[in-house]
Amino acid sequence: MTWVLRKLRVDRRIGVVDAFQFPSGVRQRFALQQTKLVGDDLLLVEAATRQWFRLAARHPKAKLSKPSTVVDDLWQELVLHSREYATFCDAAFGRVLHREPESPGATDAPTNRAARLRHTLDLARHDEGCGPRGIPLLFRVDRQLGMDHDLGYVADCGGHGECYEVSGTVCLQHLTGLGRQPPGGPTPAQSPLGCINGQTKVWDPLESPRLNPRSQ
Ligand SMILES: [Zn+2]
Repeated sequence: MTWVLRKLRVDRRIGVVDAFQFPSGVRQRFALQQTKLVGDDLLLVEAATRQWFRLAARHPKAKLSKPSTVVDDLWQELVLHSREYATFCDAAFGRVLHREPESPGATDAPTNRAARLRHTLDLARHDEGCGPRGIPLLFRVDRQLGMDHDLGYVADCGGHGECYEVSGTVCLQHLTGLGRQPPGGPTPAQSPLGCINGQTKVWDPLESPRLNPRSQ
């Protein structure tokens, strides 16, 4: 297949993901489980899950990590609606996208997991246009919603030559080692509220049509 045809196919699949509306049964069951979610919180989770699906549609061979528990939970709920999920997968991926638990087995050393998380971060930053210092939605959604079941991510602990461990956070700058600096030199410590188009800000579901096609 030529490059042009491949790009057309990817564009079509990304369009499917962007236009995907989570079935009402999925939304209702998910909302019942996630009692902390209020107001537009569900829209934020859906947008983050679409971002995850875009990565899978755009990079079918990539070994991706699952940075967000709440996204994984919504995905699981969607998988349980097997008929709707099969239809969506066929259109968005051309195959069933299997949801597998992150299982740190013998062949999956911590360095491999870190590299996979780093790769997922790079792809999500590219998806969102974050630049090398931002925290894309997929990585910030749990903390932004005040979920207490998981680690939060910080763009950079501020350490040079060593990574300053902060309880309850994962430093994205030093995921795969200490030697890498983003273009432009050292990065100041940054709040985990994320970035859109390179700026640090709180995501507003009403002002980001790229992440929330429903608002268009
Ligand atoms: Zn660090």
